[in-house]
Amino acid sequence: MGRSGSGSAAIPAEVDVAVIGAGFSGLYLLHKLRELGFSVAAFDEASDVGGTWYWNRYPGARCDIPTTDYAYSFDPELEKDWTWSEKYATQPEILAYLQHVADRYDLRRDIWFGTRIAAAVWDEASRRWRLRTSEDDEVSCRYYVMASGCLSLPKKPDIEGVGRYRGEVYLTGMWPHERVDFSGKRVAVVGTGSSGIQCIPEIAREAAQLTVFQRTANFSAPAHNGAPSPSRLAQLAADRDGYREAARWSRGGMPAELTDVSGVIAPDDVRRQRFEDAWQAGELFAILGVFSDQGINPVANEVVAEMIREKIRASVTDPETADSLCPKDHPFGTKRPCLDTGYFETFNLPHVRLVDLHRMPIATITETGIDAAGESIEFDAIVFATGFDAMTGPLVSVDISGADGVTLKDKWAQGPTTYLGLMTTGFPNLFMITGPQSPSVLSNMAVSIEQHVDWVADCLLRMRADNLDRIEPTPLAEAGWVRHSQDCADITLHPRADSWYMGANVPGKPRVFLPYIGGVDAYRRACQEVAENGLMGLRLDGPAGPRCNDGVIRRVQPDVAMVLDLVASLGLPAMESMDAADARAFSEATAATMPPGPAVGEITDGTLPGPAADLAYRLYRPASAGPHPLIAYFHGGGWVLGSQHADEPFCRDLCVRTGAVIVSVNYRHAPEDRFPAAVDDAFAAVQWIAVNAASLGCDPGQLAVAGWSAGGNLAAVTCQLARDAGGPVITSQLLLTPVTDGDFGRPSYIENGEGFILTAALMRWFWDHYADEAERAHPKAAPLRGTLTGLPPAVVVSAEFDPLRDEGDAYAEALAAAGVPVRQIRARGHTHTSLTMVDAVISGAPVRAEMAEALSSFLQAPARA
Ligand code: NAP
Repeated sequence: MGRSGSGSAAIPAEVDVAVIGAGFSGLYLLHKLRELGFSVAAFDEASDVGGTWYWNRYPGARCDIPTTDYAYSFDPELEKDWTWSEKYATQPEILAYLQHVADRYDLRRDIWFGTRIAAAVWDEASRRWRLRTSEDDEVSCRYYVMASGCLSLPKKPDIEGVGRYRGEVYLTGMWPHERVDFSGKRVAVVGTGSSGIQCIPEIAREAAQLTVFQRTANFSAPAHNGAPSPSRLAQLAADRDGYREAARWSRGGMPAELTDVSGVIAPDDVRRQRFEDAWQAGELFAILGVFSDQGINPVANEVVAEMIREKIRASVTDPETADSLCPKDHPFGTKRPCLDTGYFETFNLPHVRLVDLHRMPIATITETGIDAAGESIEFDAIVFATGFDAMTGPLVSVDISGADGVTLKDKWAQGPTTYLGLMTTGFPNLFMITGPQSPSVLSNMAVSIEQHVDWVADCLLRMRADNLDRIEPTPLAEAGWVRHSQDCADITLHPRADSWYMGANVPGKPRVFLPYIGGVDAYRRACQEVAENGLMGLRLDGPAGPRCNDGVIRRVQPDVAMVLDLVASLGLPAMESMDAADARAFSEATAATMPPGPAVGEITDGTLPGPAADLAYRLYRPASAGPHPLIAYFHGGGWVLGSQHADEPFCRDLCVRTGAVIVSVNYRHAPEDRFPAAVDDAFAAVQWIAVNAASLGCDPGQLAVAGWSAGGNLAAVTCQLARDAGGPVITSQLLLTPVTDGDFGRPSYIENGEGFILTAALMRWFWDHYADEAERAHPKAAPLRGTLTGLPPAVVVSAEFDPLRDEGDAYAEALAAAGVPVRQIRARGHTHTSLTMVDAVISGAPVRAEMAEALSSFLQAPARA
């Protein structure tokens, strides 16, 4: 049976809170909850405090977040009586710090060491958890907190023959307490992640021979370890509270300035300078933040990746070894990068050899060494630095059985589902500290741990005050958070890598991005909003009776939310407060800041005859050989703003995705030329384009009209006019968030009337400029009110947070009811403007892909009679 740190006490039968783990999380939890008057017992398999820093004692083990920041901040007095000796402290120093914390707050008396909690069962009748230790002792608790760490379950080396080896075997994640002496020995290290990269130079110092078996080359930057950073120390001395608060509201959990320098657009000298500065800083977040877009744009990412490869080649003398050490199979940052001290230079030593497993795969481990590609290499010791079953492993390794008898392992068989990474449906009163779908491993853990512990403590305090004793996330809230967390990952390059973030390092583990990548700041805001909104999405119960404010905390796509936040922060004047000329200038200036869109084969300008005057057009031609399908395109802008090149990024994107020539036509604008001038121009343009299709290099049998917003209105009306006039034959129509009616009473006008760039007020302003009240019901202004039979097949895209959503959906439904083939695409989490922000709003790309695929399939279908 385990014993408490005070030495004698038996495991208590009943406590308010049971905490699993006595590392950074468990220690703070124990301290905080005890201070708040809860009875708490903590359990750890280890014989003392420390968690990660108890187990990972391999040579060279250090933190790689500066220790000024990788420390508790909850007590200024604690900070005063601890001084770190290095920028990146060694494992013994960090362990000593955690031991000091345990002493300072007298924590050990409530920690049972050498005690593994093997199973936990929820008992609905008593609303308590029953925990069982591996020695069959039981403890009953109201709340059960897994503070068991994200990287605490070492992965078993999954290599053929591993059990046969007779020499010394070490696992970096379970290193012996006594010193291991490699002097004079032939040593193998398998694995080149952070643990391998830290221990390899140290082992090379002692060993007679060192052979490193590398499966995936890893990006690493020099740590430039030394004294703690004078500038960080100065900032802390000047304003500790301000510094800590800035960390709490930062992207990664350390105060940092975010850059807006793009790796795609910035000039070479700026890119080089930013990279060299980050390289010199020797900090992970510096090298991960050289460019604003390196995490989402492969081109920007490759700029950083190649600069790191240059550094590797410059450090390693043998070109073949250098080449093997250069990572080429994953974007930089998508596998956890490392900070090192002399790692690459170690391979210049005569007794160190790199075995690149891609060139020389391991056949088997033998009794005396490792056989790789026909060569038998003998070793005295093998060090496995092969990583962990990360994030979910430590949680599901306990046999946790929830309210309906399902185990956590079974519930998560297809990947973890959590609410805020803190709780999971079906497991009441179970909290996780830095669980999956929380920033955790992507952040400074110290900051994320404190935030989680504080949130849980506040929650328990509130429940106690409100006479409640049961809490569980609702399925709706949990599904919403899982989706949001996934949305955040999907706009990054992360899903492209076979990383432990994706569960890819453990055979059979579902491929799901595990942590939350939206940022510590965004995450903290979400947690705060959940708390402020009556613990939104959490079902509470107890003597005071049930209560629940159900809902989804984040519904807008993460990159769309960033755009909205940015726009809100600029405090721009409302467009409807401007006159048309100023509004046009403003909208052109905004468009000029957007990425240009993908390259197309050719862009040419021309004019075509209009009913009143010539109309300018811009033509986008694919790089492929023609003849191409042809799309007549009408820009957005509420009939007031825009031009033939206003939607250039979207037109280029459409051109590339559909392989069609896009002819984007300017039309007369209001208020100078009111309804129906724009419609008349649009119809005339389509007639001209149809007649001239062949001379434009296109297939006259594949003509579509397309438009966004007011342009979508013109496209829809044009199709009706063409049908009524008996031509031209239009094979399909693409209506992107179109205006189809002048009715402001639909729910989407009310739900989304403010805060999503296109406001209800602005839409009224557009209508007022365009058409008189009496004209607005005319089918040439409101195509929804026209006859819809016999129209070309339609792709209709609506956006969830658009005032025009419901009229777009109504048009799609009315077309379908009239027998028109329709592909209706509802863009979840998008706004009226976000789908056209090519390369700025990444989450729009899959919607545009679906839209283009649908349009192409209609274009290729035989033309309808
Ligand atoms: P890791 O990053 O998962 O690295 C494991 C290494 O072993 C990889 O190179 C992997 O190759 C290799 N490997 C695994 N199975 C293998 C097999 N069967 N045959 C050959 N090679 C195999 O694990 P880690 O280095 O222990 O680090 C895990 C995480 O812990 C880090 O990413 C970091 O978050 C944290 N950590 C932090 C520090 C610090 O400085 N504070 C230090 C250590 C660890 P593949 O890449 O091909 O799978």
